[in-house]
Amino acid sequence: MTHTMLVTGGARGIGRAVAIAGGSLGWSVGINYAGNEAAAAETVARVEAAGGRGLAIRGDVASEADVIAMFDETQAAFGPVTALVNNAGIVGPKSTLADMDLARMQRIFDVNVTGAYLVAREGARRMPTDRGGKGGAIVNVSSVAARLGAPGQYLDYAGSKGAIDSLTAGLAKELAPGGVRVNGVRPGIIETEIHASGGEPNRAAELGPSAPIGRAGTPAEVAETVIWLLSEAASFVTGATLDVSGGR
Ligand code: NAP
Repeated sequence: MTHTMLVTGGARGIGRAVAIAGGSLGWSVGINYAGNEAAAAETVARVEAAGGRGLAIRGDVASEADVIAMFDETQAAFGPVTALVNNAGIVGPKSTLADMDLARMQRIFDVNVTGAYLVAREGARRMPTDRGGKGGAIVNVSSVAARLGAPGQYLDYAGSKGAIDSLTAGLAKELAPGGVRVNGVRPGIIETEIHASGGEPNRAAELGPSAPIGRAGTPAEVAETVIWLLSEAASFVTGATLDVSGGR
């Protein structure tokens, strides 16, 4: 099946790898990003070089209007979304909960929880066959932090990803009758720029070896799992969240 895929936070890191992997299957990909226009343009070029079609769409997942617009723009260019990857997410600097300020916690929850729920809601309104859609699949990007709690690092982020796991469990049941499967992935430590954005540029190199597999993962390894969950090969899988964490 050839998909029209929308990937939030698709300009860099895991989202970019998912976009390119979809492109290599000939899929058309709406690539949402927050502000890094050059990275988004590079991802579009790599999706097209891989054999797909790409469209960069700027927008903040925490904005309802932006979320509606990213679905509209993807649909106008490529037809209705049949594969949705709810990937955009942020992390704050390492801190105990006692030392976190409200503004930081609110932004984490705005982007990682409200944003992800808005994106999933828009998919739930458009994708199910009983709402006039074509059916398809959604993958929500969580984190092993949801299980581990991230003590001394970022309890706010960990909790925001716990909400994603609940979203996957509940939405899978709501959308199954409409022909939409909903699954999640929980990456462990993956080599992306998110660690630098949290003030720890060497996090993957430093903590990767402590995973049972002995290294950090690559964005392409997470993308493989996401693409499998979106594909017909996973036709009886819904409501599942898979760890992609090297055993962490
Ligand atoms: P990344 O390299 O920092 O890339 C994040 C992407 O999300 C960028 O394209 C960024 O846009 C976009 N973005 C950020 N805030 C946004 C917003 N408000 N609205 C729309 N787009 C936004 O991150 P990553 O490591 O690939 O992480 C992707 C997902 O995997 C996140 O949900 C993260 O929590 C999860 N995850 C990552 C790891 C890891 O070790 N890397 C582990 C577990 C889970 P710009 O390019 O325009 O800035």
